[in-house]
Amino acid sequence: MNKGKKIYEGKAKILYEGPEKGTAIQHFKDDATAFNNIKKATVEGKGVLNNRISEHILNNLNQIGIRTHLIKRLNMREQLVRLVNVMPVEFIVRNIATGSLTKRLGIPDGTILSKPLIEYSYKNDELGDPLVAREHILEFNWIKNEKELDLINNYCLRINDFMQGMFRGVGIKLVDFKLEFGKTNIDGTETILLADEISPDTCRLWDVVSEKKLDKDRFRKDLGNIIQAYQEVARRLGIIHEESNISEVKFGKPKAVNITKKK
Ligand code: 5GP
Repeated sequence: MNKGKKIYEGKAKILYEGPEKGTAIQHFKDDATAFNNIKKATVEGKGVLNNRISEHILNNLNQIGIRTHLIKRLNMREQLVRLVNVMPVEFIVRNIATGSLTKRLGIPDGTILSKPLIEYSYKNDELGDPLVAREHILEFNWIKNEKELDLINNYCLRINDFMQGMFRGVGIKLVDFKLEFGKTNIDGTETILLADEISPDTCRLWDVVSEKKLDKDRFRKDLGNIIQAYQEVARRLGIIHEESNISEVKFGKPKAVNITKKK
């Protein structure tokens, strides 16, 4: 599929114009960044894995009635998506306290929250995505009105319920994650869609037994084996096969070679 002009380049993805009006092609890069771009690296194969994992999760969410921007995956690194106006708010859903929550409030790392906690940050790299209140979101019209904000909160909780179950079934704790939403016109109706991606880049995922981190904290905290952790998530979700490694994810499983000695 031919890509159009580049619309936007972010830290981990590039958005190109799609083949039809209202569509875009989302390209997953191997670039990893943390701490608002201070730490940067290339993690070979990360884009391929995030493309597959995000496709899997968004397709499942579509099936439970959460509308998303994903139309279909095109290839190893690209998805055809609906072009949306992304709201400048990141929705952070937390089940277990860690990361910025523990730093900000001094809550012990690993504290299980009595119910999911939703936090909002203003999407602005220059300001470092600051935490904001509902009142800021409404005052500055980042989201139209209270009804819309409540609706999105509700989507966040449903997505959390679904993903917690999905990950728990494969021995992974869904600790926290970030969601982004956008708006587009579908058949004359302004519609809210889940946008961006859901992957180990945007979630914290801990092994149920060992609490081993299977997410971007391996990069943030220099824990090593980043790709192995992302592969482990993909394997457990049944996206790639038991014995696959990244080169097979990228290029397909090599065909068995039949070696027969000539007599
Ligand atoms: P924290 O606020 O503790 O740093 O992050 C909470 C959760 O949201 C983590 O799962 C983290 O990966 C995700 N998150 C928050 N902001 C961002 C962001 O700007 N980019 C990405 N990839 N994930 C984010």
